Amino acid sequence: MIEESQKKRVVVVGAGWAGLGATYHLSRQGYDVTLLEAGPYPGGLVAGWKTGAGKSVEAGIHGFWYPYRNIFSLINELGINPFTTWTRSSQYSPAGLEVESPIFQDLPRLPSPVGTFLYTQFKRLPLIDRLSALPLLYAVVDFDNTDAAWRRYDFVTARELFKDFGVSARLYREAFEPMLLVGLFAPGEQCSAAATLGMLYFFILAHQPDFDVVWCRGTVGEKIFRPWVERIETDARVLPQRRVTDLIIDNNQRATGVVCGDEVFDADAVIFAVGITGMKKIVSTSPNLQSREEFRNLSNLGAIDVLATRLWFDRKIDIPRPSNACFGFDTTTGWTFFDLNALHDEYKNEPGTVIEADFYHANQFLSLSDEEIVTIVQRYLATCVPAFREAKVIDSSVIRLPNAVTHFAPGSYRYMLPAKTSFENVFMSGDWIANRHGSWSQEKAYVTGLEAANLVVSYLGQGTTAEILPVEEDEVHIQVARTLNQTVRNLGKSILPDFWLP
Ligand SMILES: Cc1cc2nc3c(=O)[nH]c(=O)nc-3n(C[C@H](O)[C@H](O)[C@H](O)COP(=O)(O)OP(=O)(O)OC[C@H]3O[C@@H](n4cnc5c(N)ncnc54)[C@H](O)[C@@H]3O)c2cc1C
Repeated sequence: MIEESQKKRVVVVGAGWAGLGATYHLSRQGYDVTLLEAGPYPGGLVAGWKTGAGKSVEAGIHGFWYPYRNIFSLINELGINPFTTWTRSSQYSPAGLEVESPIFQDLPRLPSPVGTFLYTQFKRLPLIDRLSALPLLYAVVDFDNTDAAWRRYDFVTARELFKDFGVSARLYREAFEPMLLVGLFAPGEQCSAAATLGMLYFFILAHQPDFDVVWCRGTVGEKIFRPWVERIETDARVLPQRRVTDLIIDNNQRATGVVCGDEVFDADAVIFAVGITGMKKIVSTSPNLQSREEFRNLSNLGAIDVLATRLWFDRKIDIPRPSNACFGFDTTTGWTFFDLNALHDEYKNEPGTVIEADFYHANQFLSLSDEEIVTIVQRYLATCVPAFREAKVIDSSVIRLPNAVTHFAPGSYRYMLPAKTSFENVFMSGDWIANRHGSWSQEKAYVTGLEAANLVVSYLGQGTTAEILPVEEDEVHIQVARTLNQTVRNLGKSILPDFWLP
């Protein structure tokens, strides 16, 4: 047992997956941890809350894919049961049903990516277009998530990558770009090829079951964060409505405090766990952070607008699959819709239908009124499932999230911060941090929180580091192909070092 007065103080800024992950581990290692959150409750982009009428809403529905090993391990440790079973999903365009995905882990396992290719049921896309993806496998092997691979591919757009590897126009339009719009929240010409390859490999290509997904049986806020935060609060302080504006730095260039309006929280170490937009705001009010180039350079990073809507209809509508992704409705916007009667306990016995429809890269929608947005959503839903045309919307919620999610733009990697900063006791975490784990989205945010916590443990020397489960290793044929490719690459470099652009 460590005496209260001897406990080292850590201040964590931002209570999303990253900040909660760091706080949870450090508080259990005997640190005196204060978690400062600008919003009214913890959860970050995944927080959920109740409307005035007492109905649950959230900033978009969040899936938990098969490779989210660290989050699943946390859920087991907490002894909670928040998830649905593995669900099947569909994809729609204005022409109707395009793709149905099975539960991949239930089918005989084939070497990756053969199972993904064979078992996904494309309703219209001709075989010749699907086969045009084959040359892309070279890039999948070549991109091994190292720093060098990121620097090779990050200056290229996803669209150029697919074009250069001979992907057909139709496969790009009907398969790859829709995946980018829901996976990286932007159209292909605005996505880094490095981020594209990393994201596709993690969620789809690495192992056959990777695309299998579960959802929370209510808001993530209610089902996961509430019990988790209750546990965290037995050891740490979680303070909402505290917007951090600056750091206090001593003569040795170490952070000694975190400024939050009129309050100062003393610290032996600080972890930032805020998104890009939040971090840019903190830098803009912090002369100490502005004094460092790495923080000034964050102005070169951007974020993307998303829109989350929830619609209550007056009647039951038969929706074939609980989760659905859609493309082709707006050129640069992707959207998804979810049957909440099937997914959420709260809506199981609802007499009508409850739908969540989320729009990514939703720039042009944000200035519309709620009524205009709801009308568009109903029209789009009716294109996919015609019974929505006759149904009446009896309640709705529209949540606008400007500059909310990380934009993995071409050329952005060089400005993304690693966990260690030039201040020896200030560490970074969040889904936009440059790390080598290989995970994405919520799993990455949680992992970076643990990685930052581990750096604090090493720096302050109290307690033990958190176990971080690595992503499942590459299948043997991918390992062999990567080794061969690396040998050839090294040979080329030994003959003409640094001759070509990376
Ligand atoms: C509509 C939508 C759908 C998504 N779908 C999925 C999905 O299906 N699966 C998936 O895995 N991921 C999904 N994501 C992405 C996922 O939400 C993020 O990757 C993840 O939540 C990021 O967590 P984080 O801890 O890095 O940051 P955040 O969740 O952004 O948390 C940062 C926190 O910092 C706080 N903060 C900001 N500034 C300050 C300040 N100055 N002082 C104090 N606190 C501050 C913020 O209020 C926030 O609570 C989706 C995101 C959206 C918006």
